[in-house]
Amino acid sequence: MADRPMVRGRFAPSPSGRMHLGNVWSCLLAWLSARSAGGGMVLRLEDLDPDRCKMEYCDQVMRDLEWLGLDWDGQPMYQSRRTEAYAEAFRSLERQGLVYPCYCTRAERLAVSAPHRSDGGTVYDGRCRRLSPGEREALARTRRPAWRVQVPEKTITFRDLLQGEYKEELHRDCGDFILRRSDGVYAYQLAVVVDDGAMGVTQVVRGSDLLDSTPRQLWLQEVLGLPHPAYGHVPLLLAPDGRRLAKRDRDLELGQLRETYTAPELVGRLAFAAGLLPEYAPVTPRELLPLFNWDRVPRGDMVCFLPADGNGPEI
Ligand SMILES: [Zn+2]
Repeated sequence: MADRPMVRGRFAPSPSGRMHLGNVWSCLLAWLSARSAGGGMVLRLEDLDPDRCKMEYCDQVMRDLEWLGLDWDGQPMYQSRRTEAYAEAFRSLERQGLVYPCYCTRAERLAVSAPHRSDGGTVYDGRCRRLSPGEREALARTRRPAWRVQVPEKTITFRDLLQGEYKEELHRDCGDFILRRSDGVYAYQLAVVVDDGAMGVTQVVRGSDLLDSTPRQLWLQEVLGLPHPAYGHVPLLLAPDGRRLAKRDRDLELGQLRETYTAPELVGRLAFAAGLLPEYAPVTPRELLPLFNWDRVPRGDMVCFLPADGNGPEI
């Protein structure tokens, strides 16, 4: 379509609590990357997990983005309302003979899995793929299965906007992964791929903790006949003791930060950390548009010092 912007980025927060500074950092860079190219920006609330996500957090995320000055186009998408689209993609993979039930309990899975190369997760050995129909039937009497997709022996390579070339051998480094949990909830990897396709997303900017999800997503796009977006994985902000920021770091949560900082003060500190300002100054996201350049953004994770009293060293 001639009127579709060349770049379409997305915010994809998980509304399991208030956004923390790390989420704001990723959202700011995603927005700058898309908008500075004259592109569009869409919002998707990744509220798939009914145990963790609440409607009030979805509303709060949108109010926080507005407060920061980060806008999006059109109506937000809620993953909790997308079950039928995920089911359709699941059926397509089933028709291709790629899906099988896994009856392993968590303890069994850990016992038969090799440690994953980078994220501390594990590589499943595919044992339930080899079950006979009779064995499946027997297990199905007492257990509800999760559903896995069978990955090929294939190397997936892509060039990240920030991290350069990244490569993974799906079979060896990742293994057959879960598409649908035993409680019926569709897995993040499937939902993200289906939604990015449906929303016409052409550029995914997110935290580098998701870098090793990307080969799985690129492969799913291939087998589902969806286009590949470009990917940019931004460094993580770390707590002073080196941990990743988490929702439990209350002092770096927007609820707390908004009591101490104005939006331009917060955005200015992040922009300085991103190499977009020579020194700290309050600034709006819109004022940063002409300054945005991927070449300036640091590659490595950064320790973040942002005391809740507004004093002291910056990020
Ligand atoms: Zn299994």
